[in-house]
Amino acid sequence: MKVPKKYSNLVDWLKSIIPTDKINSYIMIDYEEDDNLRFILFTKENKYSISAKAPSVGEYICQLCDNVIEVSFVDTKILNKVQCDKCGKKEAVLIRTTGGYLGCIATQRKPRAGEDWNRGNDLADGDYCYETWDAIVRDIVKYEIVKITSKIDQWLDKQAKEGDK
Ligand SMILES: [Zn+2]
Repeated sequence: MKVPKKYSNLVDWLKSIIPTDKINSYIMIDYEEDDNLRFILFTKENKYSISAKAPSVGEYICQLCDNVIEVSFVDTKILNKVQCDKCGKKEAVLIRTTGGYLGCIATQRKPRAGEDWNRGNDLADGDYCYETWDAIVRDIVKYEIVKITSKIDQWLDKQAKEGDK
């Protein structure tokens, strides 16, 4: 399935964490209707369901003449800079968007012994913007990091290093 064009920004962000440029081999689109898109990323033990709603409007301010411009996003990529309709320069920068959402839910792919459900956690969410994406990625890494099983191994390593000195 193809990702709608209004999610181009999200596709760009995704490309930064996908091993090849074939992002369709790594994401499973789960739901797509009206303005909502949901897809799943898998790791060996967990799955991450990412929900997105592209914003409907963006507010830009011209860095040269302080003119405020409202841009309604249709099926377009969200640009960080647009042309100012007062001075004509492409110096209007995005200050905020409305109507957008980005969030992530982590779910373990296997139930734990004695449980017949898969555990899950809400990860970061917020506005549809790079900052939220970045927070989600950091939460995913945090969810994947595992505790070192045995303190004794660390201790033995330390002893071995000290012995080399
Ligand atoms: Zn201007």
